[in-house]
Amino acid sequence: MRAGICTLKCKVVHIRCEVAWLSKAGVRGICLGPFILFSMPAEEVPQYLFRHELEHHYQQLRDGRVWFHLKYIYWSLRHGYTNNPYEVEARAKANNPLTTSEEQALWKLREN
Ligand SMILES: [Zn+2]
Repeated sequence: MRAGICTLKCKVVHIRCEVAWLSKAGVRGICLGPFILFSMPAEEVPQYLFRHELEHHYQQLRDGRVWFHLKYIYWSLRHGYTNNPYEVEARAKANNPLTTSEEQALWKLREN
């Protein structure tokens, strides 16, 4: 399992790849609190997926971690996964170019 720690927008993020239970659950990536987890090896993490999960990290910083998770669950129940406003926002920003620190974090992870 490859793992990396980086600081993005003044908050530490722990990134781990090849997380077995994610693969078994059929999930490619997830952001849980200070952790961003991917099911695939670091070199196979697509840039849009990396950016998508980072957006969930930024949503947590903006809205607060506890509030984010409560709203995420509520909106998923109310609107479904696809139309969950957090997912809509993360998809809309998934193809934004990476900032320098985000790009460094991705490369650092791939080099570990
Ligand atoms: Zn998402």
